[in-house]
Amino acid sequence: RAKAQGKLRYELFNSQMHVQAVARLQLETALRRAVERQEFRIYYQPIVSLITGKLTGFEALVRWLHPEHGIIFPEEFMPIAQETGLSISIDEWVLHEACRQAKQWQDLFQTNSANLGERPLITSVNLCSSRFSQNKLLYHINQVLKETELDAQSLKLEITESVIMQNAEKATFMLKQLRNLGIQLAIDDFGTGYSSLGRLQNFPINELKIDRTFVSGSGIDQGNLEIIETIMTLSKKLGVDVTAEGIETAEQLKFMRAMKCEYGQGYFFSKPLDKSAAEALIVANPQW
Ligand code: C2E
Ligand code: MG
Ligand code: MG
Ligand code: MG
Repeated sequence: RAKAQGKLRYELFNSQMHVQAVARLQLETALRRAVERQEFRIYYQPIVSLITGKLTGFEALVRWLHPEHGIIFPEEFMPIAQETGLSISIDEWVLHEACRQAKQWQDLFQTNSANLGERPLITSVNLCSSRFSQNKLLYHINQVLKETELDAQSLKLEITESVIMQNAEKATFMLKQLRNLGIQLAIDDFGTGYSSLGRLQNFPINELKIDRTFVSGSGIDQGNLEIIETIMTLSKKLGVDVTAEGIETAEQLKFMRAMKCEYGQGYFFSKPLDKSAAEALIVANPQW
């Protein structure tokens, strides 16, 4: 009987694995098709200066507009996209489209603008690990900047702390070359990895983005408070700016301002917006 049960369990397990494998394969096929058919869209989340309260730019966040299932979020498809190498194509598309859009917005709203003296909006683009370690990356980015005619200074690349730390030496080399192009660099999801001050000093970065898990809990939890204070101190030593991700409440905004954090992003200001809603926001020119 024990044996029969064992066999049953084995078969059950096996059939579940089979279902998973099939689902995965279907997702992989659908993703491949989505790349060919350009089913991806960019949503733009405002990034705000905590000093002036003004919009300073957007983070470009990819969504998959599935013909039947509607909007699918990156956390649902990026892991498999990464494993299959499709994330490289997705990131290439996002970079090109985000730069094209940024240039168009600059042309539409910022030449002869009433906001004279304000800096052009910065567009932040995420890079997955396989894209970051691609040898052609530098060449591609150069091409995109030429094609879209966007100033390198208006582009910021976000690379996660863990990706940089995977191969710190190679990453430093790559970051230096990117900086030489005039692009800005941010370490994303900062605080979740284990970067030492010594190592960070070698990275030619402009900004740390505090992971939202610390910010969304700030003002509530003592542990988060200490982590944020440490990151702020570290940033001053490194001479880099800080963006707080995940500001959801007025209280969290007040707290991050008191911490002298330069920039903020989060649902309190705005959720990621589609192209036309982002455009309306630029025109409205709000102050938080
Ligand atoms: P991320 O780069 O850290 O982006 C911030 C994520 O936090 C976004 O989720 C954003 O919608 C969410 N967020 C912003 N403010 C708040 C808030 O106040 N509360 C909460 N709960 N969430 C907030 P999203 O768009 O789902 O993206 C998730 C992750 O997927 C991104 O994290 C990034 O790692 C990755 N990703 C998104 N677009 C791309 C892309 O084009 N390429 C690559 N390689 N990765 C991408
Ligand atoms: Mg990011
Ligand atoms: Mg982040
Ligand atoms: Mg994140």
